[in-house]
Amino acid sequence: MSIDPEKLDRLAEVAVRTGVNLQPGQDLVITAPMAALELVRRIAIHAYKAGGGIVTPFFTDDEIILARYAHAPDESFDRAPNWLYEGMAAAFKGGAARMAITGDDPMLLAEQDPEKVARLSKATSIAAKPAMTPIVGFEVNWNIVAYPGATWAARVFPDLPIEEAQGRLMDAIYAASRLEGDDPVANWEAHSQALQERVDWLNAHNFSALHYTGPGTDLHLGLADGHIWKGGASPALNGVVCQPNIPTEEVFTCPHAYKVEGTVAATKPLAHQGSVIENITVRFEAGRIVEATATQGENVLKALLKTDDGASRIGEVALVPHSSPISRSGTLFYNTLFDENASCHIALGQCYADTIEGGSEFSPEELKQKGGNQSLIHVDWMMGSDAVDIDGITRTGKRIPVMRGGEWA
Ligand code: ZN
Ligand code: ZN
Repeated sequence: MSIDPEKLDRLAEVAVRTGVNLQPGQDLVITAPMAALELVRRIAIHAYKAGGGIVTPFFTDDEIILARYAHAPDESFDRAPNWLYEGMAAAFKGGAARMAITGDDPMLLAEQDPEKVARLSKATSIAAKPAMTPIVGFEVNWNIVAYPGATWAARVFPDLPIEEAQGRLMDAIYAASRLEGDDPVANWEAHSQALQERVDWLNAHNFSALHYTGPGTDLHLGLADGHIWKGGASPALNGVVCQPNIPTEEVFTCPHAYKVEGTVAATKPLAHQGSVIENITVRFEAGRIVEATATQGENVLKALLKTDDGASRIGEVALVPHSSPISRSGTLFYNTLFDENASCHIALGQCYADTIEGGSEFSPEELKQKGGNQSLIHVDWMMGSDAVDIDGITRTGKRIPVMRGGEWA
């Protein structure tokens, strides 16, 4: 059993119509690993069928990335192609939508020098900023979906022959992306409605903080002033309602970058830029991580935290019930798009400006005053399980159960 072409085609169609919701005449910029060419071709077909403008894909290739680590001069690791990201930024200013395809080898850089990996990642983040700003500010409609690349599939299903692993991963992506049944568009409408009800409940309570307790976790997490919970489909500033992540199970908002205290133990390994970091524990003081350990990949974690000032503070807090379909599948995907939707998580680094009321219009200084964090990185890590309880703390100090045993209370 290899990748079912009909399933791949349905994924492409839903990504275009429900995910990015490409508008007639709207250009589309796609970034993808070379391995996902087949999916990108199908996305292009559905984009043009939907009346879209110009579809422009940009590909990366694992072998070419490794060639750089093997043979490029040392200075290469402090540079990135600024012109490329400036071009993308110009495309978004001109109204283009954005799609990202994930699905390359999560362990690609595991054997490379972590210092070089960190330098290149930083140089790339700096160069990519003009292209990322319209995305984190939700100025344009965007979407991210996954393709079951061979090396990724082999990592998730190591005991299966490659083609079978890819077929299995395609099925897992298909189920997690709620594509089953006669009408995936209707599936997504119902799912989005359910997420909206959680969002409305949380916004109505307007908690000042959340308190997490669980094995290795006792965390008081302040929320940003004027924070708004979001989830599922929502309108970008250009007015187009899109579904940024497929799959998505989370409702999320902006934590207060200076009001987080206590300890957190991660509940799943974190796959980050080609390395897997296992058993992370951190301690926060006044919003900053002052202690961090991991049983594997600790040097990668520490390099990550040192990227810049905001890298050791958090910019996103998300709630996901333990019974979400991705969590129930019991599969560890080594891919944030999936693993973050199996578990409550927090993200180190950059906040989403639109999770603070009026935030998209704020200057960096105004955002900071509300508690919004700024950084070159945004890295989600998973800290939810069926053993974690969460209380909401109201403005008057009252405690209201939000989650018990990993489920909505
Ligand atoms: Zn998230
Ligand atoms: Zn995130």
